[in-house]
Amino acid sequence: MQLLLDLHPDQYPPEGFRRKQLLSWVFEQGVGTFEAMTNLPAQLREELQGAYLLNPFREIETVRSTDGSAKYLFTLQDGRQMEAVYMPYLDRKTICVSTMVGCPANCAFCATGAMGFGRNLTAGEIVGQVLAVAGGEGIAPREIRNLVFMGMGEAMLNYDHTMKAARILLHPDALGMSKRRITLSTVGMAKGIRRLAEEDDLGIKLAISLHAPDEETRQKIIPTGAANSISEIMSAARDYQAVTGRRITMEYTMLRGLNDHLWQAELLADLLRGLVSHVNLIPMNPWDGSGFESSTEAQIQAFYDTLKGRGVDVSVRRSRGKDAGAACGQLALKRPHAAEGDAAAV
Ligand code: SF4
Repeated sequence: MQLLLDLHPDQYPPEGFRRKQLLSWVFEQGVGTFEAMTNLPAQLREELQGAYLLNPFREIETVRSTDGSAKYLFTLQDGRQMEAVYMPYLDRKTICVSTMVGCPANCAFCATGAMGFGRNLTAGEIVGQVLAVAGGEGIAPREIRNLVFMGMGEAMLNYDHTMKAARILLHPDALGMSKRRITLSTVGMAKGIRRLAEEDDLGIKLAISLHAPDEETRQKIIPTGAANSISEIMSAARDYQAVTGRRITMEYTMLRGLNDHLWQAELLADLLRGLVSHVNLIPMNPWDGSGFESSTEAQIQAFYDTLKGRGVDVSVRRSRGKDAGAACGQLALKRPHAAEGDAAAV
């Protein structure tokens, strides 16, 4: 049966006034059943029920953190599992969504990478995370104003579904998000970065997970070669900026003794010269068996000061939900066969 959320809002059945009503039920009111759409004729509700699946998820578990953030573990219809994180910052409610079950990029410090790759999520399974989290939080879906494609998966390797999801999120009859409040994060897919620059109607923001300014260190962090070389990434970033004029965020996970040396801060500053960018230093969120530790507070501060002293726009992003296992993949990793789903039971 087709997942309703996989449709672009302009393709929702039926046409005209009823379509608007259906979209309103799904995206403004966030109802979970066709039955509850009481202003639709009974026959239409029955037809929808027979043709479309409204809920992409079989089961949803929530783990709440003392800092107010919440981690959602979704079991998809095929039994595979993936996660989203809700972060209710004071002035803006933010969600971090997944684009894949597992991830092929295999970043060495990442719990999702350790799961291996399960499958790509469809656009509806990506958008469905927003609706489900809003439902879990007891808020209207449109109250979630910020979204990052930064959960499980490398969004650029699930490009088409991610772009379709972004268009649904932005559509005024769907979630009506602002393009300035959606960020796509990539581990450094030069081809995808250039493609994104050409998506004129989207205008969403770009974050690049650089994690190291030198090739030797970066290969220890992203060993599979899924991403391009640093020079290819920087060339694509400059091309992206030339086309879009948009600032780029550089994500930099601070790993003790590996990428936190001050010479690396200086090299990073050199690398970024001439690029309008913002560097996010992210203390690593440790998990059992990762083999990595976060840099010390003192080292993060020294790294920050070095970048700042070289004129780099930089901030330190504090991890949310540490007690809820908020680093991507931490919950699913604890479940055997999270990436394989029902296939594991065969
Ligand atoms: S950090 Fe992101 S790209 Fe790297 S393995 Fe984890 S989910 Fe994949």
